[in-house]
Amino acid sequence: MIVVMARETSTDDLEAIRERIESRGMVAQINLGVERTVIGVMGSIPPDFKDEMELMNGVVEVVMISKPYKLASKEFHPDDTIIKVGDAVIGGSAPVIMAGPCSVEDEEQMVSTAKAVKAAGATVMRGGAFKPRTSPYSFRGMGEDGLKLLLTAKQETGLPIITEVMATDDVETVAKYADILQIGARNMQNYNLLDEVGKLDKPVMVKRGLAASYEEWLLAAEYVMAGGNQQVILCERGIRGFETFTRFTLDVAAVPVIKRLSHLPIVCDPSHSTGKWYLVTPVALASIAAGAHGLIIEVHPNPDLAKCDGPQSLTFENFDMLMEQVKAIASVRKQPVGTN
Ligand code: PEP
Ligand code: MN
Repeated sequence: MIVVMARETSTDDLEAIRERIESRGMVAQINLGVERTVIGVMGSIPPDFKDEMELMNGVVEVVMISKPYKLASKEFHPDDTIIKVGDAVIGGSAPVIMAGPCSVEDEEQMVSTAKAVKAAGATVMRGGAFKPRTSPYSFRGMGEDGLKLLLTAKQETGLPIITEVMATDDVETVAKYADILQIGARNMQNYNLLDEVGKLDKPVMVKRGLAASYEEWLLAAEYVMAGGNQQVILCERGIRGFETFTRFTLDVAAVPVIKRLSHLPIVCDPSHSTGKWYLVTPVALASIAAGAHGLIIEVHPNPDLAKCDGPQSLTFENFDMLMEQVKAIASVRKQPVGTN
């Protein structure tokens, strides 16, 4: 349920409503929006409670939200969420490009890649230190040593860090180094992990599960938000279809659909969805044309020698060319898609 307040509502009226909600065993989440102030009511709502709320001072309207996700819904939060990290503004009209290697391998690889992607216009760098690998025999990342190399690259370039956290026990360590914590596709329904990152005061990017519906994905975001952390970014990274030529299938419609259902920023990952470097640019451009708030892209100084995901990694030169075209597409698109 959401309680829509009058524009000029006093703090006393807001507090009275919060107290009433909490005294009945529910949780109140106040969202002071630009257009209007909305109070989200979470928990099991008694049948008479809507009428009760409607009688309180400052209340304009009480709306029952039928969707199972509340905090992530557009009804609760009509203004788009904007997340600021370093120089990157994620969720605004200019797309934010996050780029770097699949995995951190050594200092030279990480620092040279960070410098190259920054020069091309990326404003966030990626690099995995804890890697979810399909085979237990594949390279599984450098762990905390990899996080330290990300920090070195940040000191050299000023680029903020996005990196994956796989286990609840590692959240504290990863949060020490990361500016954005990534929840990988395979962990999208790891509810203990979602709870844990929900306690942080740092943005979290939730990648769509391999076979997750929009609702399941938004409910994963809801877990993080219900824990108190409202800084959530969604990432469409391709879903499992019948086609085996590409690694996954990027669901480009997810971009306008998510923008219609939610206020959270949505970015796309053309690297993991295609699995092939020569498909990355076309799919990146399609994502931007569809209105994505950003991209996350794998770049490696020497993709042939990459310890992880070389076939889908762009060289510095190819990343430069991608960026030129992304800027061109971004400049012609009409923003925002899906809010009419
Ligand atoms: C990654 O971004 O490094 C990654 C493993 O992606 P996903 O979880 O989407 O497979
Ligand atoms: Mn990868």
